[in-house]
Amino acid sequence: MIEIERLTKRYGATTVVDDVSFRVEEGAIAVVVGTSGAGKSTLLRMINRLVAPSAGRVLVDGEDTMAIPEDALRHRIGYVIQGYGLFPHRTVAENIATVPRLLGWEKRRIAARVEELLDLFQLDPGEFAQKFPHQLSGGQQQRVGVARALAAKPALLLMDEPFGALDPVIRSRAQDDLLAIQRRLRTTVVLVTHDMNEAFHLGDRIAVMDRGRLLQYASPGELLLRP
Ligand code: ADP
Ligand code: ADP
Repeated sequence: MIEIERLTKRYGATTVVDDVSFRVEEGAIAVVVGTSGAGKSTLLRMINRLVAPSAGRVLVDGEDTMAIPEDALRHRIGYVIQGYGLFPHRTVAENIATVPRLLGWEKRRIAARVEELLDLFQLDPGEFAQKFPHQLSGGQQQRVGVARALAAKPALLLMDEPFGALDPVIRSRAQDDLLAIQRRLRTTVVLVTHDMNEAFHLGDRIAVMDRGRLLQYASPGELLLRP
């Protein structure tokens, strides 16, 4: 479970995330939705400790993220950025192996994990493991980006507009694939999007943000839609 308590970020006189609190149950998908500039990415980066909060805190399974050492934090929280951030000069297998390598996993265990993930994301290991990112379609790169974030079995997966670069048909398939995979792995997910349809499709809970403030946090059925 992840608990976000009164998170606030100020840059000078501007408050870009304003006293935001919510909790995400184990295995649930929370979608943070709002227009550009609402503070979604900043919120995600504070959860990840890439941005230091001005106030408030984040607990992962009851533990304050500020107290978790850097490498343990990267192990426990997987992160998919916009555009996926794949290393262009590393193969698909090397990209997926990034965090397990940093954690010092044995070679055989890494190879088995890479193969398992490629299978899970329906990328034939024989065909894809040794390819480079530029040899993949957008949808394939997206799957490798998520596979890489999941490689070390994080407790929490953070995704910033993970489908934004995909065309509508591929996007819809990628969303369904994520749901299918998440049902199997039961990883807790916090996903950021500006697309309300995506929020309704994917979210067990939807956090609506506007100008830094959390306007609502509710299940899709309970969400009040205002004009
Ligand atoms: P979103 O992801 O919802 O588009 P962001 O979290 O990226 O929103 O940005 C929220 C607001 O905070 C924006 O107005 C942005 O310009 C501002 N902002 C983000 N990072 C910084 C920073 N490092 N310094 C100053 N302002 C920032
Ligand atoms: P995103 O791809 O999430 O929209 P942005 O374009 O908002 O990212 O921000 C890219 C980087 O620039 C981030 O590190 C963000 O913190 C920083 N940034 C965004 N807005 C500002 C700003 N107004 N002043 C300074 N830094 C900013």
